[in-house]
Order: sequence, then structure tokens, then C-alpha cells
Amino acid sequence: MALMIGVSGVRGLVGKTFTPELVLQFAHAYGTVLEGGPVTLARDSRPSGEMFALAAAAGLAAAGCHVSDLGIAMTPTAAFAIRAGAQRGGIIITASHNPAPWNGLKFLDEQGLGPDPETVKRVSVVREQHRYRHAESGFAPLRRDVDAGARHAVAVRAAVEVELAPLKGVRVVLDSVNGAGGIATPSFLRSLGCDVVHINAEPNGVFAHAPEPIAENLTQLCEEVRAAKAVIGLAQDPDADRLALVDERGRFVGEEYTLALGAWSVLSRRKGAVAANLSTSRMVDDLAQRFGARVFRTPVGESHVARAIRRHDCVIGGEGNGGVIDPRISPVRDSLSAMSLVLQLMASTGKSVSELVAELPRYVMIKQKFECPAPRIAQAVDALAAAFAGERLDRADGVRIDLPDGWVHVRPSNTEPIVRFIAEARDADAAERIIARARSAAGL
Ligand code: MG
Repeated sequence: MALMIGVSGVRGLVGKTFTPELVLQFAHAYGTVLEGGPVTLARDSRPSGEMFALAAAAGLAAAGCHVSDLGIAMTPTAAFAIRAGAQRGGIIITASHNPAPWNGLKFLDEQGLGPDPETVKRVSVVREQHRYRHAESGFAPLRRDVDAGARHAVAVRAAVEVELAPLKGVRVVLDSVNGAGGIATPSFLRSLGCDVVHINAEPNGVFAHAPEPIAENLTQLCEEVRAAKAVIGLAQDPDADRLALVDERGRFVGEEYTLALGAWSVLSRRKGAVAANLSTSRMVDDLAQRFGARVFRTPVGESHVARAIRRHDCVIGGEGNGGVIDPRISPVRDSLSAMSLVLQLMASTGKSVSELVAELPRYVMIKQKFECPAPRIAQAVDALAAAFAGERLDRADGVRIDLPDGWVHVRPSNTEPIVRFIAEARDADAAERIIARARSAAGL
């Protein structure tokens, strides 16, 4: 499957399924739905990005939008700029952590979030039925806004709540994977007092390693942390909404820890609730319990978490894949906010990353997927829920079953005839056993 049209946008293979014509059409259709007005355009650092950004700018302008072009910018910077500039929405050209041959287009609403499904459907209808809005006058020149990343970084710096003296001169290693984070992030870290070693810094889209910030792709960062005797390694994905951490001994600590440490940082200073998706580690529940806070679980997807944050006035939220949302900055996952929160926790406790990690309960998470013909999926999920009817169930997105010794979240894929099983328990054997039980109850 080479072209994916989903709730938040479109991704495909450059020159094969993802082409400037396609981007022009989707941008024109989105501009039509927005009915013109001020919009933001940004792109990650992929070499094809400028070509697609120009096509998107043409489509948006054709519908009467006034385009503010951030150039290469982080997804959270685009969201920040939309909100700060009271714009109608925006488009970002990015394929996030997908490999280099891919690119994509993400729609952003007036909050900087993926728009609701009805809006996305209207975009498709406009495109399919050629119901484009055609502005005939009032075209504004493309406005270049190259300082948005710096303004975003200043806002994150201004939100710091602890004495930063302990961070003065401490060495951190930043791996921007040649993505959009490479531009504004080093000066942001210096503004916190850190001494920054920056690897894969050039935002040229030629990824020095596979871009998803997971253990197998971060061996270079681990080595650099040891070589530089740094206190932490920070790994961004190409559009810099996700952050993964390496401890001071050069060990990858697991992407689930970014949100856990971020939540710890905030909850230790302020009262309020936490929002996280159903596939996120139980560590956030343990932390919330420690601080007397509530956790609101949501379906998987950033916009679900963002809406729960707003509805319940949460002080922090995010997803277990290294996506941390600090609602004081913007409603989207933001690697700068995540770095700031983790470094503030280190500064306020005087503890190293490995010491902080050691204070959290240790869990093992296992993910498996099984094929299931689409018509049978609902039946399998229902059978599973019925078999575990006596346990704590959440059916907001497939089914999540919380057991005393662990949990399993079973959710159908939106794009393939498969069902994903995510389980977490004290050790791998226990997690495997939970998956086996759930699989057999689902009849898969
Ligand atoms: Mg991303």
C-alpha cells in the first residue's frame, strides 16, 4: 500500500504515489474548506519538501488563502505559529518517522491539530467532485516566516518553572536525525544552560539512520553520550514531535519513559490531571497515583489526547511513543516541551536519568499483530470483551483490559486487515501470557 489517506492527511512514495499534482489538489481542497484566510505552511527537511511545499502554497492561494511559509520547521512549531497567529489552519509537508522515500501532507486545524474526521471528509469530497473555491483577486504574496522556530523555543523556555542553575554547563547530546529539529533545538538547549553536542544536525533530510526514534536506530547516539560523558541523549524524529531518551551511561531507556518523566516533572510542581492514549504504559497511572492525580485514557491518536486535555483541563498529556503535550505551549506533541520537562526534573531532583528511571516501576511492553479479515474484527473484539467482562474494560478504541498484573489493549488497524495486541506486565513472560489469553478469547 503505497498511498495512505488517513484522518490527519496523506502519505505516499515520492514520485510514485505522492506527487506535486496530488499535493496541489489536496491543498486547494483544504483551502476551499477553510474558505481562504490566513494559513501556515511548513515542511520537514526531506529533499522533496520544497517542491511539495510550493505545490501546497499554490493550492492554498488558489482557494484564497494567505500563506505564511515557515520553511523547514518542526510540526510543533507549525502548531504554535497557527495558534499564536490566530490562523485558520495549515499544512505541513512531512512523513514524520517514515523512511526517506516517503513524504506526506498533514492538515492542521486552527488549534494546530489534525482536523476532525468530518472536515477531512469534506476535503475529499471537494477534491473528488472538483468543487474547488477559485479566488479571482486579493492574492497576497507568500509571506516567509523563518523565525517561528525561535519564537516557539522562547515560549518553551519561558514556561520553565524550576531553578536552572544545576543545568549550567551540563553536557547533552542531541540527535536531530537531519530533520527539522536541527535548526531551533540546539539554541533552545543552550538557553537552558546546557552544553550541546549536536549530531546529525544538518536539516538536509538525508537521514543518518532510520528515522524512528527507537532503540535499534539510536546506537550512534548511545555511543556519543558515552564518548562525550554527557548526562543525557535526546533523539528527535524528523518532524520533532517525538523525543526518545538515552541515559548518562549511554543506554536507551525506552520511549515510554519520555511521557512518564515529563508527567513526573509537571505533577511534582502542579496539581491536575493527565491524559494518555490507551496503549501508553501504566507508569503514568503509578505516577498519577503518587501525586493524587487522575488519568484520562483516550483512543490512540494525538487529537484524541489533545481533546481530553482540553475537556478535563489536564496539566500534561501525550502518547507512549515519546510524544509529550504541554498544553501551556500548544495542543500537539512537542520534543522541545518534552526536553524541557525532563531536564527540569533532573535539575529539581538532582538525579540522573538512570536514577529517575530506577525509581519508576519496571514493566515490559510487548506488541504483536494478527491477521483477521475485516468483517470478523468487531466480532473478535466483542468476544474478547465478553470473556473479560469481570475485569476493568475500556472500549473507546477496540478494547483495553486492565488486569491486576498487567493490561492488554486490542485494537483493529484502520488500514490493514489486522488486529494489534499491546500488553504490558512486570516481565516479558507475563506479558506474553496476557496476549495468549486475550488472543484465544478473541478466537484469533
Ligand atoms: Mg513525528
